[in-house]
Amino acid sequence: MASARAGCRRLTRAHAPAAQARREIARLLEPDIHRRDQLLEALHLLHDAHGHLTADLLAALAERLGLSVAEVHEVASFYHHFDIVRDAAAPPALTVRVCDSMTCRMFGAEALCDELRAALPDARIQRVPCIGRCERAPAAMVRRQPVAPASAQAVQDAVAAGRFEEAPPPVPSLEQARCDGAYAQLLRLVRGDIGAEDVLRVLERSALPGLGGAGFPAGRKWRLVLEQPRPRYLAVNIDEGEPGTFKDRFLLEQSPHPLFEGLLIAAHVVEADAVYLYIRDEYPGIRRMLAEQLEALRESPPAPLPRIELRRGAGSYVCGEESAMIESIEGRRGQPRLRPPFLAQRGLFGRPTLEHNMETLHWVPRLLERGAEWYLGHGAHGRCGLRSYSLSGRIRRPGLYQAPAGTTARELIEEHGGGMLEGHALYGYFPGGAAGGILPASMADVPLDFGTLEEHGCFLGSGAVIVLSDRDAARDAAACAMEFFAHESCGKCTPCRVGTVRAAELMRAAHWDAGLMEELSHTMRDASICGLGQAAPNPMQSVLRHFPQEVA
Ligand code: SF4
Repeated sequence: MASARAGCRRLTRAHAPAAQARREIARLLEPDIHRRDQLLEALHLLHDAHGHLTADLLAALAERLGLSVAEVHEVASFYHHFDIVRDAAAPPALTVRVCDSMTCRMFGAEALCDELRAALPDARIQRVPCIGRCERAPAAMVRRQPVAPASAQAVQDAVAAGRFEEAPPPVPSLEQARCDGAYAQLLRLVRGDIGAEDVLRVLERSALPGLGGAGFPAGRKWRLVLEQPRPRYLAVNIDEGEPGTFKDRFLLEQSPHPLFEGLLIAAHVVEADAVYLYIRDEYPGIRRMLAEQLEALRESPPAPLPRIELRRGAGSYVCGEESAMIESIEGRRGQPRLRPPFLAQRGLFGRPTLEHNMETLHWVPRLLERGAEWYLGHGAHGRCGLRSYSLSGRIRRPGLYQAPAGTTARELIEEHGGGMLEGHALYGYFPGGAAGGILPASMADVPLDFGTLEEHGCFLGSGAVIVLSDRDAARDAAACAMEFFAHESCGKCTPCRVGTVRAAELMRAAHWDAGLMEELSHTMRDASICGLGQAAPNPMQSVLRHFPQEVA
């Protein structure tokens, strides 16, 4: 350990920043950027300005933040969206990211990459994990401008027109939203027409689940945080990165105000001293829209506001895991924490933290307005409530559909998705994104909800339903999912770091070694720290269990 520290000091001395780098830091970073938790924000500012990061810039940034150069390198190199140039030349001026996840592959992502390499020889064409535009697959990003559906021509057109930055979506202004009734539930609470206990009872009666994937009851979470001493924090997760999931984007493109009202209600009830919103870097237009709307909220608050900060992810799927997101907000590598202690006890900056996916908070004003009984009055096949299903794949009308909890895949496809694409027959589906496993067409009548799919080796997660047809192979889709997990493993624990890579190798074989795969799956499930490693074997196991004809 002593020699490691000495090595770190040597590295720091060896990277004393050049005067030019210090000037760049002074030019690009406001004087109030000097804390460790602002590291990611600072890296983004430097990267946006230069298109990459250099050792000199990182050394100057370390000096500004009072960190070792090694710490800054460690964080910058963890996130996929930061290019660090050491001795090599800078990356090409233009990078096009092509989504390489299941839905986009179905719609020709691989061929698109080849076409783009031929059409744009000076650009860097990167295959990347899901960018959250699955309903318009295949999807690509030209710098920060999404192109979906993407073709080589559509990407070339974006480049020729200089469209490199996504515009904020048009959403109702704060004034318009208030005229339409937004923030009315918050005002009832602040004025004392209803109390915090009333809010908690509605949440508990409705059994609103956390909608980031785990389904933990929201009301119980709020009470756990309330039992802890102040200061407390609220952390809002807008880092949806599960392949097939785009619900948060869809909802925010309609309006940010249900989210703002929900988070302000939550902050009021749990007496949160500050709120942090963490949004994935793949949604630049929404991030700008949120920043603008937050400014409007600060200028004309419907009620006293806590401190609210908007933080930007940097291309790491695992940061959607709640404790990894907390680490990332603190300016560290997004590696999940061991629990206990749970975030409700010791979360952001070591303080009790209420962490929620944004959709959970989005529901809160509507629940208070209409009541728990209204919510419970919806449901299908013995389930209660409403769910948002991101529907993509081989169907006519992919999109986000709000439907009764327990709606089946067949009902989603027929009643919402417009049926299968012409000439395609239903073959199978992912009920909950890459991690949620795969079910065959013969099981398209299983109710989709929390707790209904586990007996089949699957789960609902964030409700990303990806439809496969008779032109697809479940083993290819499962292999694509495993490659994704291997790419996104944070590397903290061996069963996941090594297991995902080994599983991807095994899945490339013509005949699958079911015994070895079973053993590997058990180890990953039992010994991985977080949900990524624990759930990664699900699609592989699904193929062995439900599609044995493909791997015999
Ligand atoms: Fe990281 Fe994977 Fe371990 Fe999770 S399971 S902590 S992603 S290595």
